[in-house]
Amino acid sequence: MSSRGNVIVISAPSGSGKTSLARGVATLPDLKFSISHTTREPRSGERHGTEYFFVSETEFLAMVQRQEFLEYAHVYGHYYGTSRGFVESTLNRGWDVLLDIDVQGALKVKTQVPDAVLVFVFPPSMQVLQERLRGRGLDDPEIIDKRLKIAADEISFFREYDYVIINEDIEKSILELKSIVLSARCRLKVRKQRAEEIAGTFGK
Ligand code: 5GP
Repeated sequence: MSSRGNVIVISAPSGSGKTSLARGVATLPDLKFSISHTTREPRSGERHGTEYFFVSETEFLAMVQRQEFLEYAHVYGHYYGTSRGFVESTLNRGWDVLLDIDVQGALKVKTQVPDAVLVFVFPPSMQVLQERLRGRGLDDPEIIDKRLKIAADEISFFREYDYVIINEDIEKSILELKSIVLSARCRLKVRKQRAEEIAGTFGK
């Protein structure tokens, strides 16, 4: 795996405002969003190739066989996976790639790409998460209960992450995520080659 661009992973319980956060950082140059493959049905307004590549279970499992995923996981009864080819070609162009994936996926990415930067997004509280999930009206009550249980499980992994954003104010959270992406670009291991070249011109 190339280390020219950075892999930034964000995970958050659903309803934590991660999607708005991800949209908010879209204005940063040289940052691409990974579009996952999933076997779940599109929600209204979602388009193939924009939010996800919506594929059948047969197609998904064939991609697993061909080792086309950097990671994949079974979440809420459906498969979700990150395309290895997309991530590699983005990094090879020198761009950063942002993965919006669950905790299981994030931890798998960290084992494969140790320099990946993992960001965990918290809702301000359990009550706020519950209200947001109900308010967005996307899911049935049983599904909301299931998502809350899964949220509690996901939160138990936050200690494995490099950064934490507590999403109380979306503008502040967007600024924090942008800062994380930008500071990842300034890491010595990322800038070393250019810094060495400049240092060389000083005879150092
Ligand atoms: P949703 O169906 O609400 O869009 O996403 C459900 C969950 O699946 C979210 O936690 C989301 O981050 C996660 N997810 C989306 N794409 C991927 C992926 O490619 N890999 C993994 N491991 N999780 C994903």
